[in-house]
Amino acid sequence: MKIAELFYSLQGEGSLVGVPSVFVRTSGCNLRCSWCDTPYTSWQPEGTELSLAQILDEVRAYPARHVVVTGGEPMIAPEILALTERLREAGLHITIETAGTVFQPVACDLMSISPKLANSTPEGPFRAQHERLRIQTDVLAKLMARYEHQLKFVIARAEDLDEVRSIVAALRADAGRVILMPEGVEPAVLRERSVWLAEICKEEGYRFSPRLHVDLWGSKRGV
Ligand code: SF4
Repeated sequence: MKIAELFYSLQGEGSLVGVPSVFVRTSGCNLRCSWCDTPYTSWQPEGTELSLAQILDEVRAYPARHVVVTGGEPMIAPEILALTERLREAGLHITIETAGTVFQPVACDLMSISPKLANSTPEGPFRAQHERLRIQTDVLAKLMARYEHQLKFVIARAEDLDEVRSIVAALRADAGRVILMPEGVEPAVLRERSVWLAEICKEEGYRFSPRLHVDLWGSKRGV
């Protein structure tokens, strides 16, 4: 599998924020978010070919009980099924971070789904593909029905909430599993957006998630 990076850190977002976890980041994505914070897995995918045995050896070298399989889009990675089955055999709690555009019957304890809103759509040649793919309601419903899950939305402006409400309604999602996070890679921008986003969460009953990685390490890779 083409792996962009594999490292030990803290889960930075969502319901398991702060939990020590090994991150396995696959390279390659079917979307092209304008604000993608891992362009080395989407716009310019890079990485190293590792066998499943090599990945498992590296993961097991860390003292973690949690593993996060992320990307890019891990659901399009060849061997994703086998990888998750091997991680389960190793006794690890598996989170999969996905945009929810592709279904695979992976082994997973927390399906962390981050549907991409209109604020992610880029200008240029990828615009049409991104718009066509970014919300796949049938796939989202299937993932939610099969797995323990959370729905994470990246919010750049208050108007984004209209689209969140309509997706949540179409999926009949439980507001308690909907998590809003501020968009941004600069601590000052995140702080400013967090203040008004916290108020929106209080009004709508959604959960708020910080972006712990940015708070602690900014845009540094592999931490
Ligand atoms: S889905 Fe994730 S990895 Fe893919 S382009 Fe969007 S932010 Fe980047």
